Amino acid sequence: MGAGTGAGTGAGGGGGLDAAFFVAWLEEAAGEIARQRDRLTELDAAIGDADHGTNLDRGFSEVLRTLRETPPASPAQALMAAGATLIRRVGGASGPLYGSAFRQMGKTLDGGEAPRPSVTPAELAEAFSAGVVAVERLGKAAAGDKTMIDALAPASRALSHAVRDGLEVREALTRAARAAADGARATVPMTARRGRASYLGERSVGHEDPGAASSALIVTALATAASRTAAG
Ligand code: ADP
Ligand code: MG
Repeated sequence: MGAGTGAGTGAGGGGGLDAAFFVAWLEEAAGEIARQRDRLTELDAAIGDADHGTNLDRGFSEVLRTLRETPPASPAQALMAAGATLIRRVGGASGPLYGSAFRQMGKTLDGGEAPRPSVTPAELAEAFSAGVVAVERLGKAAAGDKTMIDALAPASRALSHAVRDGLEVREALTRAARAAADGARATVPMTARRGRASYLGERSVGHEDPGAASSALIVTALATAASRTAAG
């Protein structure tokens, strides 16, 4: 639960997701990445270069600092600041990929001249989907290539379906988190076709993809943020 912003209704009444909700998401993601830093690095040691946990922990710690120094006034501002920071601070492939995802989400939710103080769950689902497309374009990866896409794409689909079915935002995000975790586990038997792990070819089989594992943490953090910031 952390110190957090303690402000705003976040994911509360009327389904409006405000800047406090997005800050809560990034805080939860940073906390979970810090707690699981060693596990992420161990996964990367098996099929990469053993830096994924430290890369992301450094990047997300810097995201927290940025958000504290300049509290965002809108969801778009929070996401764009996070994206820019990740691109700048994370060495390795995952920095530009996650950075582009957050920036694209921010752009999708931007209100142009007047920053929009809150967005609907349907808009969140749409922005999430645009973020996943940004990762696919930049990384040229598709489902089944054993990358973060294998967690992010099913999460995006689950979120869109749940929102379309009219589920409450917390339930919709819980489903997205479950889909991401299932997607990450499903990378174990895959052969890597993108990124460093692809150099191993068949020898990448039998290991969970580190980026898919961190994506599952980041999507789970969304669900946690929804419970944390919901009014009442
Ligand atoms: P690096 O591989 O440069 O050391 P990281 O270890 O931080 O970077 O991140 C590795 C993760 O990044 C992989 O597990 C994978 O999920 C993801 N990744 C790498 N290349 C791509 C790509 N082209 N498309 C999508 N995801 C990728
Ligand atoms: Mg690595």
